[in-house]
Amino acid sequence: MQSFDIVIVGGGMVGLTAALAICKQTPLKIAIIDSQPLNPIGAAPHLRVSAINDASKQLFTNLGVWADITNIRAQAYTNMHVWDKDGFGHVDFDLTDLPNSASNDDCLGTIIENDVIRNALYQTAQIHDNITLIKQTLTSIGVGESEVFLSFTEHTPIIAKLVIGADGANSWVRKQLDMAMTFRDYDHHAVVASVECSQGHQNTAWQVFLNAGPLAFLPLYQKNTCSIVWSLPPEEAMRVKTLSAAEFNKEITAASDGKLGQVSLQSERVSFPLTMRIAREFVKDRVILIGDAAHTIHPLAGQGVNLGLVDASALAQTLAATVFAGKELNDSKLLGHFSRWRKSDATDMIAAMESIKQGFSLQQVLPKFVRGMGMSLINNISPLKQILIKQAMGQTADLPELSKVKDPL
Ligand SMILES: Cc1cc2nc3c(=O)[nH]c(=O)nc-3n(C[C@H](O)[C@H](O)[C@H](O)COP(=O)(O)OP(=O)(O)OC[C@H]3O[C@@H](n4cnc5c(N)ncnc54)[C@H](O)[C@@H]3O)c2cc1C
Repeated sequence: MQSFDIVIVGGGMVGLTAALAICKQTPLKIAIIDSQPLNPIGAAPHLRVSAINDASKQLFTNLGVWADITNIRAQAYTNMHVWDKDGFGHVDFDLTDLPNSASNDDCLGTIIENDVIRNALYQTAQIHDNITLIKQTLTSIGVGESEVFLSFTEHTPIIAKLVIGADGANSWVRKQLDMAMTFRDYDHHAVVASVECSQGHQNTAWQVFLNAGPLAFLPLYQKNTCSIVWSLPPEEAMRVKTLSAAEFNKEITAASDGKLGQVSLQSERVSFPLTMRIAREFVKDRVILIGDAAHTIHPLAGQGVNLGLVDASALAQTLAATVFAGKELNDSKLLGHFSRWRKSDATDMIAAMESIKQGFSLQQVLPKFVRGMGMSLINNISPLKQILIKQAMGQTADLPELSKVKDPL
């Protein structure tokens, strides 16, 4: 029977990053199991993209994959323009708002197709001596006293000392281990598509808050093309998805106040139901949840995978501390610390998304005038803008706190 120190279930962006981060800091042997093949990168932009913040970029740089990612394709943005459709409020961010502590880089963030990130990570994982990639479907997982047993449909069973569930929002691992989860429907579906904008994206990430929900235009590597994320109540999302292309173009151009010029659909439209989820515990026995398997949040601030990548990096630091202290990989104090820390960050992020969503949806509670005043205030007070931009870039207490993990007790 093949034996590994760690098995990671889910070779998505978070699972692959966790594997590379653990291997960079420890000699542990890792297997990554994923049932899905890699999507090859074609000429047209893929529909799922992520706004990657500065902290995630630093992580990818440390793992030696940032150059591989940007060599495939990526689009940095230097400005953000956020506005209220029916009010007078707006907030603009540009490079002059960057806090001094930000890296010397010349962007606020980078829009990258998820498959581009996954491909780059996969190529690096594939040639790593301590990583074995297994494309198989799991059938069962059993946690014993000193090992975890995993069985497949067409592969001999394997054993590991620790299993990491990085298998996404509907995590099979979480369900198998009966790990309880708190969840709430956001009552929004996100419609995503690629669009062409006649005035170009101007290296800007745009977001308009409409009465029904936010509509974001994320700049892609072609200067006239954006990826849109339009969050709407389910029936509205269905309507928008099934409009004729001409009607859709008219509505989205009007919704964006013509700020990007004439907007025209370039791809199919797909939608995703949006649900807030958070596992009650991120660690149970010899199993750890990270990324979307542990938490999902509203995409309105583009933070979901950034949060998951901090989980990956924090777990790697925790396991490195465990190995170098000569402790068992499932050391309950160290993993307990990891679990509380990551759950607390995820809870804060969920609360922040909720405040933004509520602030823009409860018309009666927060009148447009107050909203407009708030946005104008933020726009005109530079320390406030710096706090917000620091959060968006991931320049919070997260990563420096990693040092605490080395000696948490
Ligand atoms: C519309 C939308 C827009 C978003 N925009 C942003 C953004 O701009 N910025 C941002 O930070 N985040 C964004 N997010 C969130 C982001 O997409 C997710 O947080 C991220 O994809 C999670 O990555 P993951 O690796 O944890 O999970 P996934 O990407 O879901 O990967 C899970 C992997 O596990 C595999 N898997 C699943 N089940 C099994 C199984 N049983 N056995 C083996 N393998 C399995 C899958 O094949 C997959 O490869 C957005 C989300 C949505 C819905």
